[in-house]
Amino acid sequence: TAPTPAVRSEAPALRAVPPSTGGEVSVHGVSKSFGALQVLEDVTLSVPSGSVTVVLGPSGSGKSTLLRTINHLERVDAGFIAIDGELVGYRKDADTLYELRESDILARRVDVGMVFQNFNLFPHLTVLENIVEAPIAVRGQHRADAESQAFELLARVGLADKAHAYPRQLSGGQQQRVAIARALALRPKVLLFDEPTSALDPELVGEVLDVIKELARSGTTLLIVTHEIGFAREVADRIVFMEQGRIVEVGTPEQVFNAPRHARTAAFLAKVL
Ligand code: ADP
Ligand code: MG
Repeated sequence: TAPTPAVRSEAPALRAVPPSTGGEVSVHGVSKSFGALQVLEDVTLSVPSGSVTVVLGPSGSGKSTLLRTINHLERVDAGFIAIDGELVGYRKDADTLYELRESDILARRVDVGMVFQNFNLFPHLTVLENIVEAPIAVRGQHRADAESQAFELLARVGLADKAHAYPRQLSGGQQQRVAIARALALRPKVLLFDEPTSALDPELVGEVLDVIKELARSGTTLLIVTHEIGFAREVADRIVFMEQGRIVEVGTPEQVFNAPRHARTAAFLAKVL
């Protein structure tokens, strides 16, 4: 194997990692059931390229399932999802059925990165190996290129000195920042966050939200499920409120937080604000 480069502690220019471009997400008439339970019901949502959308809603309202369908980790039963006009996986309407080949599904999946509540780092791999694994395996990058990009991303999330640590040696906040760097390493057009701070001790939430704020400013399309209302107010271009598998309300943070149009949104906010 190639020698591992020395740890760099200075932050290289962020521009060395090309910014993602595109990333418009169209969710059109999507329904999804698990057995008899309808989890998404005719969900339509348009997420402009470079925008930040925060999804709110009670537990069980379908938020995670919505993110998972965008990443094609779940198949939709009806409707379709497209990224920059390119179909994600599978489309089923009343009288049409269209399905991508598995290889095309995998090729397109790298357009969408996902960060999970529980970090999901590989415990037996170092931070550096966690980040370079997919770019080498999926994108076919040379190890040297993948590693230099990994060091840039680690600097960006403030962890340049942790490249050779193992996940268990890091705090939860640090692990989640590694998970974000790992997601960015595939240069996704869209990044999905599913309650990225819910598993963290309160004092570690801020460092992860700060990294996401920096991403928001950089122009990557972000779709974030979170209960951090203050954060949502600060970074979101739009708030989506879901309940029982449906989108109840969409608006700017000012609209949704200050003057919710639906009683259900108001009732939810009264509990979390
Ligand atoms: P949220 O993220 O808003 O809490 P989820 O999308 O995780 O909601 O779940 C919505 C509903 O779908 C819940 O009732 C959940 O139990 C159910 N559900 C989610 N995934 C599955 C699955 N793979 N099989 C069966 N039921 C599921
Ligand atoms: Mg969830």
